[in-house]
Amino acid sequence: MAKVIDSKIPAGPVPEKWKEYKAHQRLVNPKNKLKLDVIVVGTGLAGASAAASLGEMGFNVINLCIQDSPRRAHSIAAQGGINAAKCYQNDGDSVYRLFYDTVKGGDYRAREANVYRLAEVSNNIIDQCVAQGVPFAREYGGMLANRSFGGAQVSRTFYAKGQTGQQLLLGAYSSLSCQVNAGKVKLYTRYEMEDVVIVDGRARGIIAKDLCTGKLVRFSANAVVIATGGYGNTYFLSTNAMGCNCTAAVQCYRKGAYFANPSYVQIHPTCIPVHGDKQSKLTLMSESLRNDGRIWVPKKIEDAKALQAGTKQGWEIPEEDRDYYLERRYPAFGNLVPRDVASRAAKERCDKGFGVNNTGLAVFLDFSESINRLGIDVIMQRYGNLFEMYEEITDVFPGDVANEINGVKYYKPMMIYPAIHYTMGGIWVDYELQTSIPGLFAIGECNFSDHGANRLGASALMQGLADGYFVLPYTIQNYLADQAVWPKVSTNLPEFEAAEKAVDAEMDRLLKIQGKRSVDSIHKELGHIMWEYVGMGRTAEGLKTGLKKMHELEKEFDENLFVPGTKEGLNIELDKAIHLRDFFTMGQLVAFDALSRNESCGGHFREEYQTEEGEAKRDDENYFYVGCWEYQGKGNEPELIKEPLEYEAIKVQTRNYKN
Ligand SMILES: Cc1cc2nc3c(=O)[nH]c(=O)nc-3n(C[C@H](O)[C@H](O)[C@H](O)COP(=O)(O)OP(=O)(O)OC[C@H]3O[C@@H](n4cnc5c(N)ncnc54)[C@H](O)[C@@H]3O)c2cc1C
Repeated sequence: MAKVIDSKIPAGPVPEKWKEYKAHQRLVNPKNKLKLDVIVVGTGLAGASAAASLGEMGFNVINLCIQDSPRRAHSIAAQGGINAAKCYQNDGDSVYRLFYDTVKGGDYRAREANVYRLAEVSNNIIDQCVAQGVPFAREYGGMLANRSFGGAQVSRTFYAKGQTGQQLLLGAYSSLSCQVNAGKVKLYTRYEMEDVVIVDGRARGIIAKDLCTGKLVRFSANAVVIATGGYGNTYFLSTNAMGCNCTAAVQCYRKGAYFANPSYVQIHPTCIPVHGDKQSKLTLMSESLRNDGRIWVPKKIEDAKALQAGTKQGWEIPEEDRDYYLERRYPAFGNLVPRDVASRAAKERCDKGFGVNNTGLAVFLDFSESINRLGIDVIMQRYGNLFEMYEEITDVFPGDVANEINGVKYYKPMMIYPAIHYTMGGIWVDYELQTSIPGLFAIGECNFSDHGANRLGASALMQGLADGYFVLPYTIQNYLADQAVWPKVSTNLPEFEAAEKAVDAEMDRLLKIQGKRSVDSIHKELGHIMWEYVGMGRTAEGLKTGLKKMHELEKEFDENLFVPGTKEGLNIELDKAIHLRDFFTMGQLVAFDALSRNESCGGHFREEYQTEEGEAKRDDENYFYVGCWEYQGKGNEPELIKEPLEYEAIKVQTRNYKN
């Protein structure tokens, strides 16, 4: 019989759900004497906010991260902003509109009730962060400023220059530090979770590695929360921080947690293009730049060829010969269409030969019109640090005048191309953010919850902080209330012993291979396979080839990997090898899911399923579900379990950004 998933959504009309839910909480008395312990793995925006909130509520929190400080979590990379339905611009925004835009942006593949809750708590996040002293940009009169992000026709994105993630994390970190000081949170930096320990079917602890000494350490608790980020680095080249990995999530999956919608991977349209084979990272140019930057390629193929050959420059091409293809194809949203739409449109132009750099894989992002209209000072105020970052990497400053045609000044445009950026898929969670393993919770980018098949810009920070500050602290109590009568288990239990031994044996296995290939060389090859066969355009044939190539490469990894050094002390290569082992599992999972989903939706684009205009073609009749995968052992195909989607408040329709 097919397995049934209980997503624990309370009954009732969507807008009432979260209120009703909160009213029925069986609250564990805050500041209680019950000594309930919670492990929170991760100190990004989701982890730090959850650890701080749980500590404040009276739980004893064990909080781990792989960096030397919580402030170095990948979340600090977030540039553009965070959404909330405050409607400060008086432009017609509302909780319902944010909810609607997010569901539509996700191509109607998100769980409706979760998204409504997210929109509802979005405003609390801004208040919370302002109270913490986060220096959001303000208008001249003192009001918090907003800008627009893709997929929305209102301005609801709050920002702190181009460093929103960093400033938000500093806010969360100060709350966390307060709880560390109060003795409620014990912080373990440079510790990596290697496995989750299940006792009697419940998550009861973890095995972590002290990354400096190499020692394995056991932690037990009443519940485990993972907040370990996304799996974008499976593709090797991505905008994610180099340390981002999916080891914790994949270990939870191996231990029985369902992995949901892995094929929903976001490819961001505005990244600095790949420029060679020696790169290990790609750089994002924030989506906020699309507020004032216009995206174009030449209309004439001979101009494109001259640009590719380097005999012509972008600023030499007059206005009438420029194709602002997003404005042409999507007049209602123009340059602010969602990321999946903008990325595909760029690929389409480049595939047709209109790319503008030497590889033919780039389009222009041009600020000439906005600088002429607003002046360079205003543009620098908005995007100064992004312009500087672009110059540092490419030696081109987008605020430099390059040409004047018919009295109009043309500035040096940026060149951009889509790149792997974010993963909508993740560990499956119910409405309470609990995984399919009781006592194991997942929050932030590492869960699948709110973004459907495509995430709108500035919504990841919103979701991470909603989960950490306002959702998990309520929902985890339903579980912990029952745990009050259960003592914390001992780390001497055979389950801990076995888990630690298995982690240790894995490290020995990897060290003993002593082959000829470095971790990075294999990872780079995996990345090429992922990008080519499981990337922006997928086909059944390509996915099968990709899976076959991944199996062959995994064999090479198992037989020909070289990891220097020992497991004692710091061994970064060994840590990377463990991550790569898990990227293989993840890559195959992405491909399986993509192969099973015979439709195109959001970030998952199957070339066989597109409209005549090249837009994604969904199949709601057959694929209106969350695809959850259950691990069946190494080398075996995972089992697909479906969570049917039910929409009450929103009519499911074809996405339209044209009018
Ligand atoms: C360049 C860039 C710009 C972005 N800009 C925006 C933006 O403007 N707005 C927006 O909404 N979103 C943005 N995003 C997305 C957003 O930054 C992320 O989705 C979000 O920060 C993820 O937060 P998180 O807390 O879930 O995970 P992370 O910030 O990735 O944190 C993961 C944490 O888990 C820890 N960890 C990982 N594995 C282990 C392990 N095995 N053991 C112990 N600890 C572990 C890490 O140490 C870290 O503390 C951007 C992303 C990128 C790459």
